[in-house]
Amino acid sequence: MNLYSVYEKMGISKEVYDFGEDILKELREDFLHYDEMAEYNQQKVISAMQKNRVSAECLLGSTGYGYNDLGRDTLEAVYADTFKAEDALVRPQITCGTHALALALMSNLRPGDELLSPVGAPYDTLHEVIGIRPSMGSLAEYNITYAQADLLEDGSFDYDEIKKKINERTKMVTIQRSKGYASRPSYSVSQIGELIDFIRAEKPDVIIMVDNCYGEFVEETEPLEVGADMIVGSLIKNPGGGLAPTGGYIAGKKSCVENAARRLSSPGLGKEVGASLGIMPAFYEGFFMAPTVVASAIKTAAFAAAIYEKLGYNCIPKAREKRNDIIQAIELKSPEALEAFCRGIQKGAPVDSHVTPVPWDMPGYDDQVIMAAGAFVQGSSIELSADGPLREPYNVYFQGGLTWYHGKLGILSSLEEMVRSHILRL
Ligand SMILES: *Cc1c(COP(=O)(O)O)cnc(C)c1O
Repeated sequence: MNLYSVYEKMGISKEVYDFGEDILKELREDFLHYDEMAEYNQQKVISAMQKNRVSAECLLGSTGYGYNDLGRDTLEAVYADTFKAEDALVRPQITCGTHALALALMSNLRPGDELLSPVGAPYDTLHEVIGIRPSMGSLAEYNITYAQADLLEDGSFDYDEIKKKINERTKMVTIQRSKGYASRPSYSVSQIGELIDFIRAEKPDVIIMVDNCYGEFVEETEPLEVGADMIVGSLIKNPGGGLAPTGGYIAGKKSCVENAARRLSSPGLGKEVGASLGIMPAFYEGFFMAPTVVASAIKTAAFAAAIYEKLGYNCIPKAREKRNDIIQAIELKSPEALEAFCRGIQKGAPVDSHVTPVPWDMPGYDDQVIMAAGAFVQGSSIELSADGPLREPYNVYFQGGLTWYHGKLGILSSLEEMVRSHILRL
């Protein structure tokens, strides 16, 4: 088969295509490993579905109060078994990752308690939730205080500092698995386990929450298996498999999940209410697809890193480094390069490929930001998407790719755009 002929029609030059093919040869073994991870996690998900007797009735959904919603309750049992949790809350009424995290925090903390982050500052949107940036309705307004132990310069945990920050009021600890858009490393499940062991030795009864965004199905194990009490994430990232159109989840200890359910609905109602409407097929099928979708996203990230590393750009993580989440950052070094990269990703998209992303003044950011996304679900970041602030060192952060073949086209298209704009030569 002449594979190139189809890429040629889509505006990819032979030079760019061949460059990509050579790079792929170097990644064969890594790709086999990502496939194996997907295979492992796929069987884990199917096994949880079979054990919980997922049936055709589960896909029907409920209206009104949503009492006795078999599909919703069974799906929560499937999540709980897959992630080794006692219980789970998986709901379209949880609107996004930030909401899920806020819910987990606000429902499990009480006035007078303290929250500790032992991994430096949390994800940007949590600053207003916690009250790091003063905000109406924050934890700070409820007299819940916040402490932070910064990381050491090399990104590792500062155990002395963490020990100092644990006190009699420390009720909960929040650990972010993925670096998000920070410049620290993302942590493996086993690194998170070491941190949890240390904290437990200091304070056995503290509630440990892991922000699991972008981490699900990247490894064989999840943070609950190394001692976390709660994991929290978004369904328009990894576990929604690209099919969930909205939603978030909290999984872990029964008491933690029950607290969250009572805050989401109301004391006395808890998990019993919350109509699933028509969303169950997308939630089930998305979770079923998630392991292979995550593998596609990781292949896309590794392919891009290998290409740009070869061309002399600094990539975080490195192309062949072990991955702990699906995010890839590339230091593109100039605003022109950042814009060209994003244009290329947009041109390769299945939706909105005809629009051109341009930098804009995004609320809450000091610098202009450029974003490329042509997604079926608005704002979905398990679909191929890229963005970056227009400031030194002009990092582009990108993630996703529902299928590896789309990811490949997106990355080749970004390279084509860079070559055509005379930013680099192959
Ligand atoms: C995406 C993300 C969040 C917030 O999720 P939203 O769905 O955008 O609200 C929180 N933490 C991390 C690490 C994330 O990647």
